[in-house]
Amino acid sequence: MNGATSISYDEVVAWINTFAATVRDQKEYLTALDSAIGDADHGINMDRGLQAAIVKLPGLPARDIGAALKSVGMTMVSTVGGASGPLYGTFFLQFGTATAGREEIGLDDVVRALDAAIAGIQRLGKAEAGDKTMLDTLLPARDALRDAAGSAASIDDALARTVEAAEQGMLATTPLVARKGRASYLGERSAGHQDPGATSSYLLLKAAADTWSGTARGGTAR
Ligand code: ADP
Ligand code: MG
Repeated sequence: MNGATSISYDEVVAWINTFAATVRDQKEYLTALDSAIGDADHGINMDRGLQAAIVKLPGLPARDIGAALKSVGMTMVSTVGGASGPLYGTFFLQFGTATAGREEIGLDDVVRALDAAIAGIQRLGKAEAGDKTMLDTLLPARDALRDAAGSAASIDDALARTVEAAEQGMLATTPLVARKGRASYLGERSAGHQDPGATSSYLLLKAAADTWSGTARGGTAR
């Protein structure tokens, strides 16, 4: 079992770098999903924002998790147009505000930060569960993480359950009719396609699990 009980500054930076690398790798796929129910730019948008964000991380003055994530958020807002720039920008800004001044965080901090990040997205975009958006991944993932953290699961266990819930949420967007964002213009025709933002949010949480799990830390795999 992974004995680590906290996530360090370097591991948070590694999370963002892994997410950026995954999005780069999956850029065509994310854009293809968006071509079915949007305007075919989701992969391009996310890649542009994340590449601009990661080059700034090595030059940050302090090992402050909150400052790093706020920097990512501000860069997403300023470099990405469309819905996803402000929405992901808000996610990282709020996550960073919740972890301001910290050089390491525990699972409880991640739960609180994820709560704040999701609340920010909902204040901005007014979407709820079932609207066929990134929230259909993030909300069940947040619930799974909160339950796992509450039952004193290890970081590995908690993240595995979070990613499982995120994947189910992402897959469950396929039959939904979009009620928010560009896909909602299609009405019933938006059904039958997986939501691009729900997919990038799955990749975001998968990147966290892959970077923060025991094996990635060089610990013993369960
Ligand atoms: P745009 O729709 O402006 O082209 P993107 O293609 O980059 O922007 O992002 C589309 C994704 O944004 C959707 O798949 C959806 O998950 C997410 N999204 C759109 N509107 C909202 C909203 N109001 N709340 C939450 N997420 C949203
Ligand atoms: Mg789009």
